[in-house]
Amino acid sequence: MTPLRKKLKAVMESAIADFRMIRPGDRIAVAVSGGPDSLALLNLLSDGFGFVTSDYSLLAVHIDMGFAQAEPVNRDILETHFRSMRVEYRIEKTDIADELFSGRLKKNPCFVCSMLRRKRLYETADREGCNKIATGHHRDDIIDTLLLNVLYGRKIGTLYPVQPLFRNRLTLIRPFVYIEEARIKRFAGECGLPALRRLCPLDGSSRRAAVKGLIRRLQKTEKHADLRNNIFKSLYHVELKSFQALVEGQDFT
Ligand code: SF4
Repeated sequence: MTPLRKKLKAVMESAIADFRMIRPGDRIAVAVSGGPDSLALLNLLSDGFGFVTSDYSLLAVHIDMGFAQAEPVNRDILETHFRSMRVEYRIEKTDIADELFSGRLKKNPCFVCSMLRRKRLYETADREGCNKIATGHHRDDIIDTLLLNVLYGRKIGTLYPVQPLFRNRLTLIRPFVYIEEARIKRFAGECGLPALRRLCPLDGSSRRAAVKGLIRRLQKTEKHADLRNNIFKSLYHVELKSFQALVEGQDFT
């Protein structure tokens, strides 16, 4: 085991224990978009977690967006990868790309895209008898989502490490909640995980990409402060009592 793999496993193990993400007997659908985050997650979950638990099974699920020309190449690469790992997998064909880029949709394509992909993922996990869904969202996704919600969603909130769905029929888990994107990318490179072509024409032009750019630019002028770390740590120090009391109609004096 390389030092990086060992380190990532240890940090994941803390998150899994802190949030009680995995229990013996779980059947976990791992959402594999084909990016380095989800491939790294599948890789790291595939060999168990010592004292936390190794008694779970995995199903890799890829939602094929239906980008007609290039998708078969990515699909073939993924299938070869899943087979070489000897992991059970499902590749779900959809026409989400048509839906997004046919001209009918006027605004918020990323919002609609995430919603449609999530819906299909949940349906597949449920159909295949999974009780958990693991996604490759990492610490930086938690940070970016928090800012996205403040800037565009008029609310303070972010992705949950553990999120029960449909009255606990399914539970979403995010074992990378403590891990930075850069370390995951380094790990994906170290393991030689396949690099898939990015097919969405909107890739890199989303609001999420804009928020990343904003933090990056601010960080350049604030060299003494670790801004990403500060934003993440703010989740542990929420001081909104007066506003909350106002919302809940209580006396806050
Ligand atoms: S960038 Fe493309 S693939 Fe990503 S959420 Fe937006 S529409 Fe979907």
